[in-house]
This record gives sequence, structure tokens and C-alpha cells, in this order.
Amino acid sequence: MRKTLHKIEEKSQLFMMKQCPSPSAGLRYKVLTIPPQFPLSEEEKDISISTMTYAIRSNFKEKKKAISLGLLPFKNKNQTRTANIITYPDHQIWQLKTPEEVAKYFDKSFPQIPLEKIILSEEISRFTFSKGGEFPNPQFCSGVYKILGEPDNNQGTAVILLGDAVHCFPPDIGQGVNSALEDIYILQEILEETEDNLSQGLPIYQNKRQDDIKALIRLVQISYPWQYNQDPWQTKLWSVNFFIRLLLSRFLPFMFSPHSFVLIQNHNLSYSEILAKSNRNTTILLTLSSLVIILILFFVGWQIFILYR
Ligand SMILES: Cc1cc2nc3c(=O)[nH]c(=O)nc-3n(C[C@H](O)[C@H](O)[C@H](O)COP(=O)(O)OP(=O)(O)OC[C@H]3O[C@@H](n4cnc5c(N)ncnc54)[C@H](O)[C@@H]3O)c2cc1C
Repeated sequence: MRKTLHKIEEKSQLFMMKQCPSPSAGLRYKVLTIPPQFPLSEEEKDISISTMTYAIRSNFKEKKKAISLGLLPFKNKNQTRTANIITYPDHQIWQLKTPEEVAKYFDKSFPQIPLEKIILSEEISRFTFSKGGEFPNPQFCSGVYKILGEPDNNQGTAVILLGDAVHCFPPDIGQGVNSALEDIYILQEILEETEDNLSQGLPIYQNKRQDDIKALIRLVQISYPWQYNQDPWQTKLWSVNFFIRLLLSRFLPFMFSPHSFVLIQNHNLSYSEILAKSNRNTTILLTLSSLVIILILFFVGWQIFILYR
């Protein structure tokens, strides 16, 4: 639908997705289905808890061999669970062609769990032949609607783009569904205010949503793109940055906010507000670091001056 709108509006570029870089874009993923309350070991009572998150790490440690199974929590304990395998495009797991090769790879990867009770052979087969997916670049387009004719007089159509159709990104901060629901919520509020007048409501909706969408895309780029261990140094740097901001926000709450990855969980803040807080932290940190560097240089210069005076 968006592509069709782009063809109509090619000149204005309103419906062209603006691509933004991210360290997690391009990673490949496949999903494994796992039975509910699966066993964690051979011991009878050692079974998984549905409301717990699990990260099962593989025996392999080399970058292109290591995998981990990431399981998100579910409220319903009888719900089938899913484990995401997310890794680099040139990882060995993507080269495996047959269910036998995949089964062998899993056996060697996870000797710590009773694999045959967790991943059934049919599931290994489905996993092998499934196409999987690839994380997209964070991207958005500035047009979110197109009015053709006069839909308010029943003589035309209004096309409204919501969710991934206007803003999509890697799932680093878990905001895909939330932001899509927020689109709908805000649109519904505006349509209520304008008594379902689309020609009046849709421009208001587009104006209101644009800044938040741009802020969301930026938050995806900066909040937690290194969580897939693409580069151990960058992951460590990210952790240092995260804890500095966490500590500063605890001890100097009037001056610093927590890291954007924490703020994103606060549903009372809009994406624009979260980005503004994060940018403010960065500005203060950069100013303070520059001051410290200037003071150190001044002190060293002073010592040299005294020495050679
Ligand atoms: C691996 C992974 C993990 C994720 N984790 C999270 C997470 O933890 N939290 C989170 O909030 N989000 C997450 N997301 C993102 C989330 O899934 C999406 O942002 C969300 O589903 C977008 O909703 P949507 O309705 O806009 O699009 P979709 O859910 O993609 O729905 C679009 C629907 O339209 C259908 N469709 C497409 N073309 C046509 C057509 N021509 N005719 C008819 N129907 C059509 C599709 O089949 C699909 O059912 C994740 C995404 C991935 C890939």
C-alpha cells in the first residue's frame, strides 16, 4: 500500500522510507517453537517457569558458531514458547541444509539441556526449511495518509498507514507493537475530536505523530543496538554508558535521567520526551567531560610552567 502511494506521490517523496543506520540491522533470525513447561534438566521437577525469561547459551564460543536461545516470558503457563535465534548473516547456522545437520548442531551447542524433550524432530525440520527473517534498518516515512476524492461525502477513499508500514526497525527496544498500538490510539482520539471528519482529522494526526515517530527511530538507533553481541567492545562500552547514566540518575536525579532503554518502559512519557531526556543527559555528560579535560590540561600546563619558570 505504501509503495503504491509512493508511486502516486513520487515527486514529494512523502511515502519514501527514510533509511537510518543501526548496528543491529542486517542480523538474521529464526524462531524455534518449544513446548510449554519444558524440562531444564533430566531431573523430574526441574521444569521451566512460563513467566521467566531464559537465555540458553551454547557450548560453542567462537563468534560464527556460538548461538543462544532467547525465550521471552508468557503469563499463560500452558502457552507454547518461542525461542529466537538471532545472529550474524555469515554465521554457521545459516549454512546448515538438512534437519540432521541442524539436530547435530543443536546437540553439540546445548549439551546442558535435555534437547530431545525440548525441540521435537518435526520442529527441527520446520526450522531448517523456514526462511527466517532479517532485521531491517530503522526507517520511517513522513506521510501517513492520502485522501483520494472526498471520503467524507462518501465519494472517495482515505488511506491511512499505521505500524510497521510507516515506521519499522529491529526489535531492540520492543516497541514495534507498542508504537503501532499508539498510532491507533492517537488516531482514534483525533477522529473522536473531529467527529470522524477525515479531511480535518488526518492532517492533525500526521502533524501530531511525525515528531514522535522520528524520536522513536532515533531511540531505536541509540538505546540498545549492541545487545546481540555483534562486537564485544561496543557491548562493553554500551554497558559502561548504561551504568554511568543509571548511577547518575540515582544519585543526582534532579540533573540526570536514567538511560533511554529504561525510560522507554515508562508509558507516561512520549518518545519525543524520552529522546529529549536522553539528549539532555548526553549534553551534560559531554560538557562535564570537556570541563574535566580542560582542567587536567590546565593543571598539567601549570605544572610544566612551574617546572621551567
Ligand atoms: C524477531 C522479531 C521480534 C520482535 N519483537 C518485538 C517485541 O518484543 N516487542 C514489540 O513490540 N515488537 C516486536 N517486534 C516487532 C513487531 O512484530 C511489529 O512491529 C508489529 O507486528 C507491527 O505490527 P503491524 O500490524 O504494523 O504489522 P504486522 O504485524 O506485520 O501485520 C501486517 C499484516 O498484514 C498482512 N499483509 C501483508 N501484506 C498484505 C496484503 N497484501 N494483503 C493482506 N494482508 C497483508 C501480513 O500478513 C500481516 O499479518 C518484533 C519483530 C520481529 C521480526
